[in-house]
Amino acid sequence: MSDPAPRHVRLLIIGSGPAGYTAAVYGARAMLQPVLIQGMQPGGQLTITSDIENWPGDTAVGGPALMQRMEDHAREMGTEIVTDIVTKLDLQQRPFTAECDSGARWTAEAVILATGAQARWLGLPSEERFQGFGVSACATCDGFFYRGREVIVVGGGNTAVEEALFLTNFATKVTLVHRRDSLRAERIMQDRLFKNPRIEVVWNHEIDEVLGSDTPLGVTGARLRSTVDGSLRELKADGVFIAIGHSPASELVKGQLPLRDGGYVQVEPGTTRTAIPGVFAAGDLTDDVYRQAVTSAGMGCMAALDAEQWLASQGEAQAGPDAPSMAEIVAG
Ligand code: FAD
Ligand code: NAP
Repeated sequence: MSDPAPRHVRLLIIGSGPAGYTAAVYGARAMLQPVLIQGMQPGGQLTITSDIENWPGDTAVGGPALMQRMEDHAREMGTEIVTDIVTKLDLQQRPFTAECDSGARWTAEAVILATGAQARWLGLPSEERFQGFGVSACATCDGFFYRGREVIVVGGGNTAVEEALFLTNFATKVTLVHRRDSLRAERIMQDRLFKNPRIEVVWNHEIDEVLGSDTPLGVTGARLRSTVDGSLRELKADGVFIAIGHSPASELVKGQLPLRDGGYVQVEPGTTRTAIPGVFAAGDLTDDVYRQAVTSAGMGCMAALDAEQWLASQGEAQAGPDAPSMAEIVAG
């Protein structure tokens, strides 16, 4: 049996974090009849966190609840929301084409990329071996399993501090291991961390190896290496939470769009326009500086407005003979 014919849409939004859903709200209100593909993490990164205290209008709101509200809002405005994962994206010619995990195919006049970012790992074989058996990148998901136990959190940013604080709800002791002698987390977060009697910080150390047992498979601690003199020491723990940041999910467009250092999709400053006319990028996928829910949402809004303006300027026509070739685009 041959593949089903692709469905054609005016605006395809890839990703369901704050950037994608905000683009969907604006795109729907501009009558672009957007279709949004949610990906493997419907709601994006905020679905794995607890309280958000910097979303304007909410003194505190749960991550999953906020993202559910955004989804409902986008749907209510007229966005079609599809539970699927884009596995291949062809931006070489218009209409652009997307293939999904389910086998569904889409063609689109304009595309908004809002695929966000994913947790980064240390890259140690022992870390991989114990993933799901004491090694985690999500305290909200796995913290509950450490009631009355001791855990290590690795990292020095907002995520690491937030994870360490959250874990004190369960663990009797949380040791934050950071490779430098100062944190990059916000001051207010640092203050909370330093005041918490259950948290100890080990400065100037990184994880040399996650230590554990085979039967049953589980973590028993970590060997730490000093970043100052290279000396080694062991720390007992039942779990290791890796919170060292995220990498942009730009695999779909690698080789098709210019990427900045770290794999972030490059956009024209002050806009969400990528190097390919009709393709826009928003949120953590393109942002290595702010990486906040509210900035991602702001960029989602910008992307929908940019897309609307571009579609209007094209009369939604196919690319003309003056359109730059892929080689010209990627070479800048
Ligand atoms: P994301 O939220 O990363 O969403 C990306 C979306 O793209 C996902 O839905 C995913 O399924 C989808 N996707 C990826 N690949 C594909 C594909 N191939 N096909 C289809 N879809 C795909 N920020 C704050 O402002 N306040 C906070 O308190 C806060 N707390 C945080 C706590 C944690 C633990 C973390 C990790 C981050 C936190 N942040 C916070 C940062 C915030 O979550 C991000 O800045 C924001 O979620 C980025 O939004 P986004 O829409 O760009 O992408
Ligand atoms: P981040 O700010 O990039 O911090 C990553 C941390 O991990 C840094 O301290 C870094 O050390 C350390 N690190 C990186 N690679 C490492 C390695 N291989 N080994 C050991 N340590 C390593 O990432 P993040 O904390 O995930 O935050 C991402 C964004 O989301 C930020 O913009 C943040 O503000 C936002 N966020 C906001 C909130 C909030 O507002 N409440 C909560 C969570 C996240 P160095 O410091 O030495 O580089």
